[in-house]
Amino acid sequence: MKIVIIGTGYVGLVQGVMLAELGNEVVCIDIDQAKIDKLNQGISPIYEPGIEELVQKNLKSGRIKFSTDLEADIAGVEIIFIAVGTPPAEDGRADLKYVLAAAKNIGENLKGYAVVANKSTVPIGTGQLVYKTIKKYYKGKFDVVSNPEFLREGAAVDDFSKPDRIVIGSDNNEAAAKKVAKLYEVLGAPILITNLETAEMIKYASNSFLATEISFINSVANICQAVGADVADVSRGMKLDSRIGQRAFLSAGLGYGGSCFPKDVQAMVQIARDNKVDFKILEEVEAVNKLQRQKFIMGIKGRLGELRGKRIAVWGVAFKPKTDDIREAPAIQTIESLIDLGAEVLAYDPVAAENAGKLIPEAIFVSRSIDACKKADALVIVTEWDEFKQIDLKNVRSVMKQPTVFDGRNIYNPKEMKKLGFKYYSIGR
Ligand code: NAD
Repeated sequence: MKIVIIGTGYVGLVQGVMLAELGNEVVCIDIDQAKIDKLNQGISPIYEPGIEELVQKNLKSGRIKFSTDLEADIAGVEIIFIAVGTPPAEDGRADLKYVLAAAKNIGENLKGYAVVANKSTVPIGTGQLVYKTIKKYYKGKFDVVSNPEFLREGAAVDDFSKPDRIVIGSDNNEAAAKKVAKLYEVLGAPILITNLETAEMIKYASNSFLATEISFINSVANICQAVGADVADVSRGMKLDSRIGQRAFLSAGLGYGGSCFPKDVQAMVQIARDNKVDFKILEEVEAVNKLQRQKFIMGIKGRLGELRGKRIAVWGVAFKPKTDDIREAPAIQTIESLIDLGAEVLAYDPVAAENAGKLIPEAIFVSRSIDACKKADALVIVTEWDEFKQIDLKNVRSVMKQPTVFDGRNIYNPKEMKKLGFKYYSIGR
């Protein structure tokens, strides 16, 4: 099929490249000229394992094209995906300005029938709004479906190829939903076709539920700390219950961040309020998440005392491993708080340092994890990159001024850390 993707970010780029990989003819559109220029040179503007090689391969085969000009490439298109950002507005609702700008652009340029599939995470009812916006500018026939995205950054290529499920929502034309479904049939995943509103809700409900699991286990961790239980073992014990499951989001730590959970939880709280539904559980999920980060900082301050004049190493700034995405990353707030309290921060991240450096120029970014620890009064672990898990901790200890580690992701064994001579503080153990 001939496919156009509007918005070539973490979602749009993966969708575009992977659909090209399956043999479709794909054009990825973005308003960011610098991004498009990079992609046309075979350089990925984001860090996502495997994506750059796939961009180069599909550019070479001619199956993918990157452009800022929708008009030039819209002829003959069968499916147009909208994959632009939906950041939170001041009040927590999703800001739809990019989605509606994309819809206007489609309406102004459409030349024949196409299915418009929305992958952006949007409030319930947005599908109808997109339809009306396109209709204002284009009088011909088209359909709008919802096709929410469930990929995980850092594992996006794999998630596209082996999705748990595909959800497609359509109100008026099942043939349109089936056309989009056809694209994914080869992946062998269950395909759920619903109405528009249900598809939009499945996305918010899924992310809200996963965020709830994280705040739940963090609350359990706080009790564990008080009663002498180990939350890592509690989590292991819970996951062995098949009703809970091995992949449950039950790792205690600094809470959720990233470009999705914080804004999607906020938006869901607003959707509930707008519909006069009491969703206190979710409001608490947000509150617990905020408190978890504050408690971590207070713990550091409480144990180190005055931070002015102290040097602190921070490992990991990406909101999670295997991505360079720092949107709502717990590390940003942690580093800002440490600097506000007077500490000097030396930070290390294998791929997100450049992005973070723009946001927190007061932090010093170093290119090796060990360099951050030199003469440090404490090491703070914020993102659980694999390379930290089996690092030579004796070497780390030998370069630090004080062997104190605050582990926000529970990556080390407390007994072994004690044996190595560290003062080791983790979460809920
Ligand atoms: P992103 O910010 O990485 O990418 C969005 C892209 O859209 C940017 O490159 C931007 O320049 C471009 N854009 C904005 N307006 C445009 C327009 N009118 N025309 C063309 N391009 C335009 O965002 P993302 O992380 O890819 O997220 C996109 C959507 O997918 C959001 O709604 C998000 O909630 C949802 N989502 C994201 C993830 C994720 O892990 N990132 C997962 C599932 C769902």
